[in-house]
Amino acid sequence: MIRPVRTQPERPPAFSYHPASTSGSNKSSKYAMYCEQSLLTRLAKRYGTPLYVYSAAMLRQRATAFDRAFRAVPHTLCYSVKANSNLSILRLLSRMGCGFDVVSGGELERVLIANRSAAGRVVFSGVGKSREEMQAALKAGILLFNVESESELMTLAECAAKLKKIAPVALRVNPDVPAETHPYISTGLHQHKFGIPVPQSRSLYRAANQAKSLQVAGVSVHIGSQITDVTTFAEAMELVAALVTDLRRDGHAIRYVDAGGGLGITYQEKRQSAKHKAEPEFAQKVAAYANSVIGPLRHLKVHLLLEPGRSIAGPAGVLLTRVLYRKTNGRKKFVVVDAAMTDLLRPSLYDAYHEIAVVEIDRRSRETETVDVVGPVCESGDFLARARELPTTREGDLLAVLDAGAYGMALASNYNTRPRPAEVLVEGESARLVRRRETMPDMLATESSLR
Ligand code: PLP
Repeated sequence: MIRPVRTQPERPPAFSYHPASTSGSNKSSKYAMYCEQSLLTRLAKRYGTPLYVYSAAMLRQRATAFDRAFRAVPHTLCYSVKANSNLSILRLLSRMGCGFDVVSGGELERVLIANRSAAGRVVFSGVGKSREEMQAALKAGILLFNVESESELMTLAECAAKLKKIAPVALRVNPDVPAETHPYISTGLHQHKFGIPVPQSRSLYRAANQAKSLQVAGVSVHIGSQITDVTTFAEAMELVAALVTDLRRDGHAIRYVDAGGGLGITYQEKRQSAKHKAEPEFAQKVAAYANSVIGPLRHLKVHLLLEPGRSIAGPAGVLLTRVLYRKTNGRKKFVVVDAAMTDLLRPSLYDAYHEIAVVEIDRRSRETETVDVVGPVCESGDFLARARELPTTREGDLLAVLDAGAYGMALASNYNTRPRPAEVLVEGESARLVRRRETMPDMLATESSLR
């Protein structure tokens, strides 16, 4: 099928096409995608595929955009570790002064390994914290426990008393606000397991106040992930603001409001003719988000805690994968690649859309085809894209799955006994392997076999 070729998707400034040959004339029609100043084909050759590649500059820019947008109010950015928990990324963000949102003892340990002194900027969320996890967080001296039930509150009080510590707590309230997002990542309705209904929370705050080993410090909320309509955040914050006023009237010293995470990113970009638009657009988005969050709270003089994950790490990473085979079943065309649902689960789990770019392109070529991009796993649900129009590829070609920096590697598994991919962090021309590819001995290390 010959059609006018569309511009291949890219995410400037970090993931952009440049002339493939630096020595050749500018007239060459061959272009290749880079991460910052590092050629993706070179990284794939050096480290193999599937391979996650992250841009340090983009991570920094996005964290900075949050700080700028919220500069008018006291705030701490607590990057949500679940989005991408690679130690080097945690270290990079902690060096910028970021705090962290963790949901397990494991994530807490990662933060402490990355930077022990960041403990005082850690908030601990999640509906099922174990005693061991609470004890570890108390010993580390974290900033805030976001508590989600009465039983959890009492367990935390016991753990703190045993350790002779005082646990700073916020109750995570469930505002019953619908968020327009995939049902699996919407969390702010009563039908979801998360949080405590606002009307119930006041009596629980009273109970917390009576426990000597607890110190009421804040209110927390998180209504879901991949939310693009920022008015939803304002709606939740109105409820939180009213609650803070009531709680203060009840005598509680509410210093913090934890606004959670959830700001969505653009997975499917409208084609843009002008280059390098993406970052100013992101700054504008964060500014709109900040207005929605700050507006209802402005008069309360609270310290804001923010837990973005996806919006920091998502666009800062791509997954590189090589075309293994091409095949046709009847009228259906498949491009079989070496990355699978085990490496990037989002398309299979949420029917999520990720742009796919061919890494080396010839701008004169006009040939496109509609294909399913599928992995080697034995599931029909193992796909990275369905019915997608792509430039015609050949076996051996390199593809980049865009916006894969969040909930990509973090959700990777060993299903089908597939080793998890390697990860590389790029800074300009230099690239550092920040996680080697898993090996067969790694995968078997915890198993014993019958003799
Ligand atoms: N905070 C909490 C409590 C969450 O559950 C999540 C994700 O679900 C986040 C923060 C991060 O959300 P996002 O990656 O959408 O910013």
